[in-house]
Amino acid sequence: MADFAVTPLADDLDFDALASWDVVIIGAGPAGLAAGLTTAHRGLTTLIVEAKDRPGGQPSFLYAHKRIVDIPGFPDGITGEELSSRVYRQAVDAFVQFRFQEELVGIEDTDEVVKNEPLKRVVTSHGAYLCRKAIIGVGLLHFPRKLLTLDALQSKKVHYKVPNIGDYEDHDVVVVGGGDSALDAAVMVLERGGRVHLVAREETLVGKAETLARVRASGGIIHASAEVKAAEFAGDRIALTLGDGSDLAADLVIVQIGFLSAEDTFERLDLRLNDDGSIAIDPYFETSRKGVFAVGDVHGDIKLITVAWAEGIQAAIYAFKEITSPYWLNEKRLRDHKITMIGEKITEAAARQGKPRR
Ligand SMILES: Cc1cc2nc3c(=O)[nH]c(=O)nc-3n(C[C@H](O)[C@H](O)[C@H](O)COP(=O)(O)OP(=O)(O)OC[C@H]3O[C@@H](n4cnc5c(N)ncnc54)[C@H](O)[C@@H]3O)c2cc1C
Repeated sequence: MADFAVTPLADDLDFDALASWDVVIIGAGPAGLAAGLTTAHRGLTTLIVEAKDRPGGQPSFLYAHKRIVDIPGFPDGITGEELSSRVYRQAVDAFVQFRFQEELVGIEDTDEVVKNEPLKRVVTSHGAYLCRKAIIGVGLLHFPRKLLTLDALQSKKVHYKVPNIGDYEDHDVVVVGGGDSALDAAVMVLERGGRVHLVAREETLVGKAETLARVRASGGIIHASAEVKAAEFAGDRIALTLGDGSDLAADLVIVQIGFLSAEDTFERLDLRLNDDGSIAIDPYFETSRKGVFAVGDVHGDIKLITVAWAEGIQAAIYAFKEITSPYWLNEKRLRDHKITMIGEKITEAAARQGKPRR
């Protein structure tokens, strides 16, 4: 088991005393961790905010035990867990600070200024952090949407993916949702001997008609135009009340009501997006909002750990250069930016006239 214990800081380093951070990074995946250890190695105060309870991103929570074989320097491969643990330790040793189980809510502009630079306020589900630069490394993952009435129970009997149980014989299972994943879950339970009540908001379920027919043929009961209004424990079971006042008792509830997309977060942040919904960046990894960078899976075609690392490191160095800014760097950036914009305009004009760009 990897060790994610945080190395205690020297007594005289009190990060709580900071009025603002140099850099706040959102996401402790490969991109965010690499960015963090790079800014911290350069002496910038660095905070990483992570929605989950541990660092590492996809390699840690999606394929912790897979042997990754395409990381240079590891000819025998390395597991996602081990790799995440090593990079995390490196970041902690560089004095990167972490806040886990905090989700990004927004990034606000402020009137507060440090060294002529207006600060940003990174607002999370638990707090707010002033900073000079923000780096977004939240990946493109889609998280299962939660159903608040059921989530409030904090019960192991409520699942947001199909639980890993082989046999549902004599189990009463309530499946919430009307899409393909909900119908697939229902079929799986029915085929393993369970009884299923499927609760869907829609009048006409959006999942495949063929799967719906299989649910019905195997004895599944469909409650269409129905919603779970209340839920409480009833002994070992969960008692659910639907919108029409009817009650269901469940040994297990499987919720499959779609996913929270990263795109929702990006739109909320008021960032310019590419056609595919990823974040648009300039050659310095800066987004359409000045001082806000984006790295890793949140943009671009090549989704690999090493690419996420490389981008995190580059954005961190550009952020560092701006913070310790020789003025000519910004002028060069401005010039490059103008060249890019002019290039885009010429390409668009040529496309309108049906000419290939020379
Ligand atoms: C099954 C699978 C196998 C793969 N195998 C390989 C492989 O063998 N080799 C390889 O190089 N690549 C592989 N990849 C790709 C690789 O994992 C990704 O490219 C890489 O993880 C991207 O890193 P990232 O930091 O950009 O994003 P992520 O790894 O997704 O990390 C983003 C982090 O941000 C956090 N976060 C998200 N939203 C918020 C929020 N609102 N507030 C705060 N925190 C938030 C997430 O919890 C997460 O920890 C694989 C991917 C998958 C899905």
